[in-house]
Parts: sequence; C-alpha cells; structure tokens
Amino acid sequence: MKKFPRQNEVYTSNYFAVVDPEECAGCETWIDRCQMEALSMVDEVSKVDLDRCIGCGLCVTTCPSDAIQLQKREKEIVPRRIRPTFINRS
Ligand code: SF4
Repeated sequence: MKKFPRQNEVYTSNYFAVVDPEECAGCETWIDRCQMEALSMVDEVSKVDLDRCIGCGLCVTTCPSDAIQLQKREKEIVPRRIRPTFINRS
C-alpha cells in the first residue's frame, strides 16, 4: 500500500495524526513506527503528510513526549474502489 502516493484514498480511518510542535522533542521515535511513511522531520519537529496518514494511531502510542494526537477529519474520505488488476501482487 505504500506504493500509492495518496494512501488515504485507498484506506483511511477518517482520523489523522497531529503533532504539537511545542511538545515534540524531535526524537524521531515514531518516524520508524509509521508503516505508511507519513512522518518526517522538518526543522527538528515531526511533520505529518496528510495524503499518506491513514489515522491508525500507532504513532500516538509510540511518542514518548505525548506530542501527537489523532483528530477526526472534517470531511469524511470514502476510499475509492481498486480493481484487483491494479494491485501489484509481486
Ligand atoms: S496515524 Fe498511523 S499512518 Fe498516520 S502518521 Fe501515525 S502511524 Fe502514520
């Protein structure tokens, strides 16, 4: 699923991760934890790519500074259907 540029069009929980820059210690602990590669460091603060975040919450439970929370999306995203032939099974 990481091969899709906008993963939340394929699957989402309709929540997304939000980082509190005041609380973020820049430890990068949860960058490795995110299976969607939605997290990166910008100016020593973690940043969430909202096109990739599926709102799974793994980063919330991993952050040692409690700097990240899930928020409900204002507009619900309904993942589009994918034809099986479009999925690379290799
Ligand atoms: S909620 Fe899940 S997908 Fe979104 S940034 Fe956190 S670990 Fe990644």
